[in-house]
Amino acid sequence: MKGFLEDANYSIGLLDEGATLADVIDNCIYEHTHTGKKAFYVGDLGKLVRNNIQWQNVMAPIKPFYPVKCNSTPGVLEILGTLGVGFACSSKSEMALVQDLGISPENIIYTNPCKQASQIKYAAKAGINIMTCDNDIELKKISRNHPNAKLLLHIATEDITAGEEMNMKFGTTLKNCRHLMECAKELGVQIVGVKFHVSGSCKDLQTYIHAISDARCVFDMAEEFGFKMNMLDIGGGFTGSELQLEEVNHVIRPLLDVYFPKESGVNVIAEPGCYYVSSAFTLAVNVIAKKTVEYDKLLPSGVEQTRNDDEPVFTYYINDGVYGSFASKLSEKLNTIPEVHKKYKEDEPLFASSLWGPSCDELDQIVENCLLPELSVGDWLIFDNMGSGTLGEQSTFNDYQRPLIYYMMSFSDWDEMQDAGIASDTLMKNFFFVPSCIQLSPEERFSTAA
Ligand SMILES: *Cc1c(COP(=O)(O)O)cnc(C)c1O
Repeated sequence: MKGFLEDANYSIGLLDEGATLADVIDNCIYEHTHTGKKAFYVGDLGKLVRNNIQWQNVMAPIKPFYPVKCNSTPGVLEILGTLGVGFACSSKSEMALVQDLGISPENIIYTNPCKQASQIKYAAKAGINIMTCDNDIELKKISRNHPNAKLLLHIATEDITAGEEMNMKFGTTLKNCRHLMECAKELGVQIVGVKFHVSGSCKDLQTYIHAISDARCVFDMAEEFGFKMNMLDIGGGFTGSELQLEEVNHVIRPLLDVYFPKESGVNVIAEPGCYYVSSAFTLAVNVIAKKTVEYDKLLPSGVEQTRNDDEPVFTYYINDGVYGSFASKLSEKLNTIPEVHKKYKEDEPLFASSLWGPSCDELDQIVENCLLPELSVGDWLIFDNMGSGTLGEQSTFNDYQRPLIYYMMSFSDWDEMQDAGIASDTLMKNFFFVPSCIQLSPEERFSTAA
């Protein structure tokens, strides 16, 4: 596996027929067990190819603009660029990152609701014109720093199921849209469309109906002001499940056909982030410490009901936590229970267990309570759906080192990718062939792939 490297000189293992993600993980664990047991990711870039095919099948002609902040690792950005996906950037560094890949400014939108003046100037210089805006202070800032900006008014959406009145953190009201249009007219700023975002946790598809109807109102309003509007951005929030994508499509398609028919010349775009990357990355972590909590000691909440009096409760510490790959745990619950990598018997007893990151910080809890067979220090746990979050960011909290990333793709996905677009020479150079590892013994695997 020595051919795999991370970051600047990353490479992508092209898997022989029959080899799977599980084989790659086995291989990496085998190697890491001998070299320090660091946490690592395996990124199946073929997943991006398949998710893109699914998007085209269900959502076309809605063009996806991938939000770079969801996962800015070079493998992800290059594959998505090859597939012809656009990019939604929230900062100068993200814009620079995709520009370096040769992405043209028309394929980049600038979507931060709170933009720094210097970064707006940067966008102006780079020819990145489309940006979102939801208040008049932002509008004035844009007019001073980017006279050719084309604005998407970001309207708020309502998630009734979440019990919120209005998701007013970002996004504005219809009433305020009128005010923004008056300001824009005065300042000579162009408004070209509307953006809204429905969170992935929103279960009520009515939210889309309201948002698209509101967007139509804003388009009508814009006509009064003489703005030529031609873009509707329906945001992100797609989980990656085909069912959810179809359900959303089922709800929005008839509305789009009525309110924004093809003849209207309105381009409908979206910002699917998690959709592309979540399922593509699997994280392997190592158990670095372990404690047995006695029954009469303090127990993690909720444990009492599920255990017998004489059963131990285990606390495991693993070498990645909320100050690293599990950053999203600080704000939302992680649903996935990890898979135990070592083989264990079907009838092996399971114990109430909690999982903690390495920081010794009380916030650094990853899984509060789950049932696992007894683990030893040095055992590996596998978390799937870890592709969206902090991947690609540079951070060194408490000497915390980012896990290595091993990229892979199957031959069939590789074929599909080439059908979809022209991969750059630099991307193609990153691919290397992985001989079918399954038939080899671990020792052979280790040396052959090295
Ligand atoms: C993060 C983000 C998204 C992505 O949301 P997902 O739920 O991951 O699809 C979309 N748009 C913007 C501007 C974002 O910052």
